[in-house]
Amino acid sequence: ATGPHWDPLRKELALTDTDCIFCKIASHEIPSTIVYEDDLVIAFDDLSPQAPVHTLVIPKDHYRDITDGVPAETLAAMTHAIDEVARAKGLTDGFRVITNKGADAGQTVMHFHMHVLGGKPLGEGLL
Ligand code: AMP
Repeated sequence: ATGPHWDPLRKELALTDTDCIFCKIASHEIPSTIVYEDDLVIAFDDLSPQAPVHTLVIPKDHYRDITDGVPAETLAAMTHAIDEVARAKGLTDGFRVITNKGADAGQTVMHFHMHVLGGKPLGEGLL
């Protein structure tokens, strides 16, 4: 949410979506429990946690989902943020990362985010 900028992958101006709740979290317009932040990404606790640790990692710029031309640099920053979340939350026994795209996956917030889940044994299944 650093304002309009030319996105070379999408060949368009990437605008912060003014109606997007995660854009507002990224710009600190609405509060969240921030776990990690740098220039490209922010990580904050999920409002309705599905596990003892449930933190969301998002790019500050607005992408709809993981397939929306997210730059490699941003994906790398998200990977780094996941590592920082795991360290901050003490997830020494492992964790699960999930991202939803579209209706079948049940995506409800249309701003790319990765769920980091852990703090207990999560079971062997994917779901
Ligand atoms: P998804 O179903 O993958 O789109 O996940 C969206 C997630 O965002 C859900 O787990 C919600 O609980 C979470 N969420 C929605 N609004 C907020 C908010 N303001 N702060 C933190 N988490 C939120």
